[in-house]
Amino acid sequence: MAAEGRDRGSPSSAMGQGDQSAKKQRVEQLPNGSAVKQEVVVHDGAGGAVVAEVNGARVEVTLKMDISVLHCPLCFSPLKPPVHKCKAGHLACGGCVADLPGNQCRRCEHGGAFDHEPAMDAVVSAARVECPHEGCGRYVAYYEASDHKSACLHAPCLCTEPGCGFAAPPSALVAHLSAAHSVPVHRIPCGRPNKIQVPVPCPPRRLIVVTGDDGRHGPVFLLTLGALGAVTVVSVVCVRADTCMVPRYTVKMWANGPPPGPGSAANRKTDTVLADVEAVSSSSPGGVALEDLTSYLMVPPRYLVGPAASKELPLHIRIEKNISA
Ligand SMILES: [Zn+2]
Ligand SMILES: [Zn+2]
Ligand SMILES: [Zn+2]
Ligand SMILES: [Zn+2]
Repeated sequence: MAAEGRDRGSPSSAMGQGDQSAKKQRVEQLPNGSAVKQEVVVHDGAGGAVVAEVNGARVEVTLKMDISVLHCPLCFSPLKPPVHKCKAGHLACGGCVADLPGNQCRRCEHGGAFDHEPAMDAVVSAARVECPHEGCGRYVAYYEASDHKSACLHAPCLCTEPGCGFAAPPSALVAHLSAAHSVPVHRIPCGRPNKIQVPVPCPPRRLIVVTGDDGRHGPVFLLTLGALGAVTVVSVVCVRADTCMVPRYTVKMWANGPPPGPGSAANRKTDTVLADVEAVSSSSPGGVALEDLTSYLMVPPRYLVGPAASKELPLHIRIEKNISA
């Protein structure tokens, strides 16, 4: 449809009609009788095309602009809605205006009251920049760029192995940990229980990549095994920017105890230890200390199976998106 609009708005037809305006509007009748507004590209006299919208499809342009235009001249932070303007046209952010006595502009000689300026809200919301993190590609409003960058799912995370120093987005970190450090990687579907047989205590770290229904890679978690005396401690951290809060993930881990011994009462149930935690995010997941975590799974030694030299923990784990978040 965009191409059609351009054809109809060729320079010759525009000039032939004596129409020098940058754009014109057309209303087309659809078969069901409803009308759809369409704007058509019209070239100006110099041969440049100028148009804001073609048949509802947004047309974007890359601009260079003075960055100060997008910053509040009072606090120097990026302007975000609601942007305010005084009678003389001075701008200020909502926070600064709230601090001014009587909303009066200090830069105007006789003062002037600030008012909300919706047109500037539209400008600062439309000025978008690309996230610098490799693999992200999202364009976010300039005033949100800093928040997005620090909470971006593609923000680089540090390798979990001490002294390595490699940093990469979580997806690339999985490949690195697997290839360079032979860290085991488990791929488990989101929201379903999985059983993984974990040798105790080595290797102490393994990665869990949660996959969606379409098999695509989702969030990455680091599973760490530690010991408190004879007790095995299992903790899980989400590998992503520390400030990344959404989506939130609930991790349920459990282990079933040994079957009741021969002297036990009939029908005695098998014990289970369970941890139901919300995973914290960390961009240096290998550096998260056990004492910083609010919850982990504590497994008594009798829950481990296998010969003494190669004990294993049959660990059940389910990771799901916390939909109440
Ligand atoms: Zn301000
Ligand atoms: Zn002013
Ligand atoms: Zn990003
Ligand atoms: Zn590494």
